[in-house]
Parts: sequence; C-alpha cells; structure tokens
Amino acid sequence: MIIVLKPQTEPEQIKHIVDMIEKVGLRTHISAGEHQTIIGVIGDKTKLANYPISSISCVESVVHVSKPYKMASRDFHPEDTIIDVKGAKLGGGNLWIVAGPCSIESEDQLRTVAKFVKNAGANLLRGGAYKPRTSPYSFQGLGEEGLKLLKKIGEETSLATVTEVMDTADVELVAEYADVLQIGTRNAQNFSLLKQVGKLKKPIVLKRGMSQTIEEWLMSAEYIMSEGNQEVVLCERGIRTFETAYRNTFDVLAIPVLKERTHLPIIVDPSHASGMWQYVIPMALAGLVSGADGVMIEAHHEPEKAMSDGAQSLKPKKFDLLMSEIRKIAPVVGKGINL
Ligand code: PEP
Ligand code: MN
Repeated sequence: MIIVLKPQTEPEQIKHIVDMIEKVGLRTHISAGEHQTIIGVIGDKTKLANYPISSISCVESVVHVSKPYKMASRDFHPEDTIIDVKGAKLGGGNLWIVAGPCSIESEDQLRTVAKFVKNAGANLLRGGAYKPRTSPYSFQGLGEEGLKLLKKIGEETSLATVTEVMDTADVELVAEYADVLQIGTRNAQNFSLLKQVGKLKKPIVLKRGMSQTIEEWLMSAEYIMSEGNQEVVLCERGIRTFETAYRNTFDVLAIPVLKERTHLPIIVDPSHASGMWQYVIPMALAGLVSGADGVMIEAHHEPEKAMSDGAQSLKPKKFDLLMSEIRKIAPVVGKGINL
C-alpha cells in the first residue's frame, strides 16, 4: 500500500502517520519527490483496518499495490534512483561504462586493460577475483590477491571498482577492497547472500539469474533493499533459451519493461549475453537505445591468452570503436551527459 501525501505536507504530519503505521508492526519507506511525498507501507495492511488513513487531512490518496516487490517498485518511488560512486554517476542521463577483464590475472594484465579502457572513456573498472566457473578444474580467480590488485589499479587510474562476491563468508572482505559488489547470475537467488549485501553501504550490481523472470529478478532486488541497501543496479546479461548460436539470449525487451516497473538503474552486459566479441558492440548499443543506463564490457589486450571469457572480450581498438559509437548514439536517446 502507498500513501500519497498532498503537496506541502509538513514533516510533523509525515512523522505522525509513520509512527501510527509502525506502532502496529508495519514498515514504512518514504520517498520524498520534488513535488510529492509518498509513504510506502510494507507488511500486512489489514493491521491498519481500524485506522482511516484516507481521511487524514494531508493524505491525497491511498493506493493498494498488488506487486510482490515494494521498495523496488516505481509505485513506491516514482523518480529514477541515481547512484554516485566516486563521482561516476548512474541514472538521470548519466551512463556507467564498466569495463575490464573477466578475471584479474596479474598486476600487469589489470593495469594494461585498466589504462586502455580508461583512456577510451570507461568510468568504472571491473575484474573478477572470485570466479564462478562451470568446472571446478578451471581457473577460480586470485581471491584476496586479486582484490588487492583491483584496489591498487583502481586508485592508479582513478576508476571506481566492481567485483563479484560469491560467498557470504567473503562479503566483508570484498567490501573492504571494492567500491561496488556484483552478484552473479548463478547467485541471483542466493537469498542469504542477497540479505548480507543488503546490509552494506555500497552499490550492488545484481545480474539477472539466467532463468529468472523479471518479477523474480525484482524480488531478488527486494531482498537486498529490504535489509536497508537501496543502491541496487540491475544488470541484464542474457537468459538461457533454446538458441545455441550464441551463449545466451539478450533480453532487450526486459529494459523498457523494467523502466516501467522499477526506479532502479539498469545496465546491460552484452559480453556475457553474446559470448562472442563480434556481437558485443551492436548489443551494447541496442541496450542503450532501449533505455539502459550503462554497459558492462569485458576487455582484454590479449584475449587469446585470457584465463576466462577471452572469446567475448574486446581488444583496445574495438573498445575504442564501442566508445565512439556510444558517443554518437547515446545523445540521441538522452543519455551520456557525463561522457
Ligand atoms: C562476470 O561478470 O564475470 C560473470 C561471471 O558474469 P555472470 O554472472 O553474468 O555470468
Ligand atoms: Mn566473464
């Protein structure tokens, strides 16, 4: 349920309503917009049966929300959420260009990739230190050593950093080193992990589970938000379908659907969606034209030697080409004011 307040409602009146709701054991979420304030009510609303909220003088309307996600819903928070990590803004026309290798392999490798993506215009550096590999015999990542390198090279290049956390036991450690934590597709419904990153005060990139519906994905976001962390970035990275000509099916239609249903920013990962470098640029542009607020791109100076996902990684020249295409196309769809 949401309570829409009349313009110019005084803070004391808001507090009075919030206190009343919380006294019966429900939770509230306030969204103070430019023109109107909304109080979202979470929990069993029958507890408010004896409180005639709609007749309070400062209440404009009471709307019942049937969607299972509340904090993630646009009904609760009509304006777009804007996230700012070390000056890299996301949303409201600002794009995140997150780029870097799939795996952090060595100091030299990370520095080389970070430099070329930064020079081309990336504003965040990605790199995996804990890798969710299909085979236990494949490279699993450098662990804490990789996190140290990510922090070091991020500072050297003045790029905010993004890295995946796979295990509840590593959340604190990863948060010590990285600016943004990523939940991978395989952990998109690992509810204990979602709850734990929900306690952090750092943005979370939440990849779409490879067989998650949009509603299930938003429920995963809700798990994070219900613990207090409102800075969730949704990342469309392709879903599993019957098609085998490419790695996953890039669900571009999810972007406008999400824009309607949620205020959370959305980025796209055309690297994992396609699995092949030659499809990365067109899919990145398709994502931006469809309303995405940014891209996450795997890049490598020697993809043929990469320890993971070389086939989908862009080399420096292709990354430059991607950036010049983004600079042409983004302004047409009202994006990229920060590029
Ligand atoms: C990654 O970003 O390197 C990754 C493993 O992504 P996903 O979880 O989308 O497969
Ligand atoms: Mn990868």
